[in-house]
Amino acid sequence: MPPLPSSPFTLGDNNVWPFRLDAEDGGGWLLVDAGLDVLEDGVASWDVLVAQARAIGCEIEDVRVVVVTHEHIDHAGFAARWADLGAAVVAMPAALSMLIAGRSAYDAIRERRMQELRAHGCPEDVLDAIVQAQRAHDTHRLAWQGCVPSDLIEAHDGDTFALEGGRTLHLIAAPGHTPGNLVAFVQDAGGTAGDLCSGDTLLPTTIPTPGLHFPAIADVIAEIGHTPGDIRPGTFEEMERWPSLPSFLRSVGRLRALNVRRILPGHGPVVEDPARLFAQFDEHHARRSQRVRAHLELTGADGATAYEVVRGLFPRLPAARLGQALTEVIGHLDVLVEGGDATQTRDEDGIFRTHIAR
Ligand SMILES: [Zn+2]
Repeated sequence: MPPLPSSPFTLGDNNVWPFRLDAEDGGGWLLVDAGLDVLEDGVASWDVLVAQARAIGCEIEDVRVVVVTHEHIDHAGFAARWADLGAAVVAMPAALSMLIAGRSAYDAIRERRMQELRAHGCPEDVLDAIVQAQRAHDTHRLAWQGCVPSDLIEAHDGDTFALEGGRTLHLIAAPGHTPGNLVAFVQDAGGTAGDLCSGDTLLPTTIPTPGLHFPAIADVIAEIGHTPGDIRPGTFEEMERWPSLPSFLRSVGRLRALNVRRILPGHGPVVEDPARLFAQFDEHHARRSQRVRAHLELTGADGATAYEVVRGLFPRLPAARLGQALTEVIGHLDVLVEGGDATQTRDEDGIFRTHIAR
């Protein structure tokens, strides 16, 4: 079995995966993910990253390519820093406006998510608890400087990079966790097997949830360059949500067909038994989908809001954890609607209700 590319650079439980590029192509390094930008107890994560790179003989000036798996603050935080150093920052087209807008779009989307949860029936006191829980979560401490548009390079499904030892890194579009999500498959020389840099699409200890995404927000902020505070309240209210779970399930289905030996995730330890993880992912979503469907079948002609479904499925779940549960149920409702098994209507108060197709 070929050795790991090397161990990842780790910032907390975040991984940045380094690979040596083929010397015949000019050598240097390729990184999968940019790293997260945080100052903790006076120590900048950038310094931690640089020290780990040097320890394996990777000078930061020799980093030629940084592949960003997706447009989230903990994966793209240092994208602009790498670009300033001369690296090509590569991401899917659907990720680019977030990479340009950075933290300002991230904050605007967070606000818009709360409106979306309200429109799915979530009461105000629960919304308050969800916001409190988010504040306690550490992402508010993270910085995310936007990139200069001309520094970004569009990735395409099937793009390849030649690595040391005859291995090939393949970029695979895998929308789901975010609209601009990709994964990287590092294929052995002369074989079909390889390691999968999965970003947040497959994780060792949790089943990643879909998200609530509003791609138009990032486009607007990237274009006008304002921070959310400067923008008239309500500007983003009508911006449409991108249904993430249907795409997520299709993407994971595609990855299952690869000959994956190990998964090198965006967070946590290497997964040595990918088949088991794929099976857990499938089981989780099949079970969840079935329960959402069964609950809808019990509701009468009125159908149900996502909040009512969540309360039916998890009556004792604390309010702080309802944000994630709601997001996942909204995802499963999207899957049912997309498959023609349910329909969704919006009442005069702007609340979405889903009805099983009979
Ligand atoms: Zn992440």
